[in-house]
Amino acid sequence: MLMTRMLVPTLREVPKEAEVISHQLMLRAGMIRKLAAGVYTFLPLGYRVLRKVEQIIREEMNRAGAQEVFMPALLPAELWKETGRWGVYGKELFRIKDRHDREFCLGPTHEEIITDLVRNSINSYKQLPVNLYQIQNKFRDEIRPRFGVMRSREFGMKDAYSFHATEESLDQEYQNMYQAYCRIFDRLGLEYKVVEADSGAIGGGYSQEFMVIADTGEEPVYFCEGCDYCASRDAAGVAEYVVSETQTKSDGKPEKVKTPDQKTIEEVAQFLKVKPAQMIKTLIYETESGPVAALVRGDHELNEAKLKKVLAVEDLKLADEKVIKKVTGAPLGFAGPVKLKNVKIVADHAVLLIENGVTGANEQDFHLTGVVYGRDYKADVVADLRYALEHDVCPRCKNSKLKVKRGIEVGHIFKLGTKYSKKMKANFIDENNQEKPFIMGCYGVGVGRTAAAAIEQKNDKDGIIWPISIAPYQVAVIPVNFDEKDQREVAEKIYKELSVEGVEVVLDDRPGRVGMKLKDMDLIGFPIKIIIGPKGLKEGKVELKLRSTGEMKLVDKGEVLQEVLGILG
Ligand code: ATP
Ligand code: MG
Repeated sequence: MLMTRMLVPTLREVPKEAEVISHQLMLRAGMIRKLAAGVYTFLPLGYRVLRKVEQIIREEMNRAGAQEVFMPALLPAELWKETGRWGVYGKELFRIKDRHDREFCLGPTHEEIITDLVRNSINSYKQLPVNLYQIQNKFRDEIRPRFGVMRSREFGMKDAYSFHATEESLDQEYQNMYQAYCRIFDRLGLEYKVVEADSGAIGGGYSQEFMVIADTGEEPVYFCEGCDYCASRDAAGVAEYVVSETQTKSDGKPEKVKTPDQKTIEEVAQFLKVKPAQMIKTLIYETESGPVAALVRGDHELNEAKLKKVLAVEDLKLADEKVIKKVTGAPLGFAGPVKLKNVKIVADHAVLLIENGVTGANEQDFHLTGVVYGRDYKADVVADLRYALEHDVCPRCKNSKLKVKRGIEVGHIFKLGTKYSKKMKANFIDENNQEKPFIMGCYGVGVGRTAAAAIEQKNDKDGIIWPISIAPYQVAVIPVNFDEKDQREVAEKIYKELSVEGVEVVLDDRPGRVGMKLKDMDLIGFPIKIIIGPKGLKEGKVELKLRSTGEMKLVDKGEVLQEVLGILG
């Protein structure tokens, strides 16, 4: 391709609206342009990258035995109503009506659609398992579209759905997809971690997220330095504490102290001159099976996802003043576990270790000090309830410490079980002639987000450093002065040689200064530059420069093709 024929509107200035580096560089390198909030056009260079990411995904999905389909983006509401997601999905769903007033939405994901397809086309276990995928644009009216194509409202996704007769078959396919995803992200040259994600309360299956490690990632990734444990913030476990006998058996009794208007942990801690770690934070929740008092140490944060799981409830919300008053007899800010009746008490492990704890007295303007677990109160359930922290002991190997880095979620694999098939009465006949709901899995990768994540991970002050596998072109041939006949002829010859061999190459045939051209090439991130200048040519040599390392070597002009093919492997 000739540079003068390409639409590559590069920018010198950093666009103000772009907060993260990938967004800035995609705009500056002329790869994308914004049409509306969270809606982007991919220009030729950007689209080439997108197509390459898609192709790697496609090859690995095909290799894993999945079959490509293509479903519509315009989806009738009826199927969404069958699963109840027409309501649940809320404002993120783009809803439209046709001329007959029939309701539709633009697909944000396709579980309902694929389940409908499969229930109408598969009826026997003999036709299972099956894994169907598509690469298609999704629509989600995100509250905060941002970071360019990383969190947009229309974006490319590969979504796959597998259907099984047995749990074992699902487990196998889930592993198969796990491997396929590893191959995809390995081929993309990304540094990633696979985290255990919180899988929700009742009926939620197991799921893992593929996170590309980058400082600008939206999600913290908790991982062990010693073993392969890795989890999201919601899912990260806390190793059980060892409770010794002495801590639960101390003499004396709690003392009631006046704490007028001191309600929060910080206020009370300051007022009584104790550390927040000495306080027993008592949170009253409402659930479908009644109120609950959840206890965590004052300096810890309660993880509602864990609490939900421990209680096996689906609805969980902090109680309002009225309920708190009813449960504790006191207004908000004075709840504590001592003599707390008619409510289930769930305590985090760490609470049991607090010696001489401080907590609410269940009476306005009073707290208790010297509170000890076992002697003064007991919990109905003791469990892991808090968010893990950096430097906590790893819950798996119980040896090394947890570290936290930030990550960008690029892929998600999920064991759905029968969540959709039951609601949609999607059944098959099993070996014993019994009707059973399909057991399902689903597997997604964001295409544009993955491309952006690659930039986020590999860039420098000059621009993008593409992994060769997804660079828009592999080589740029740059004559220092295109108007000089010698240079032009050598450049054109090398350009042709490479093109004929199938190398993706751009010839920078623009007039103008070489400095400006090189700046553009580095900004766009061509992995290999061939620079043809008068000095080298005198000796029949050209410069070959690698974008990733900055490494430069002089190459005989007749040996460029061989050198390049060697690098591309
Ligand atoms: P997030 O938590 O980031 O909103 P999600 O859990 O909603 O992601 P999934 O429904 O699992 O995402 O979608 C599968 C993949 O699609 C994600 O792993 C991500 O790569 C991509 N993706 C999701 N939302 C967006 C978006 N708004 N813009 C670009 N890619 C997205
Ligand atoms: Mg989302």
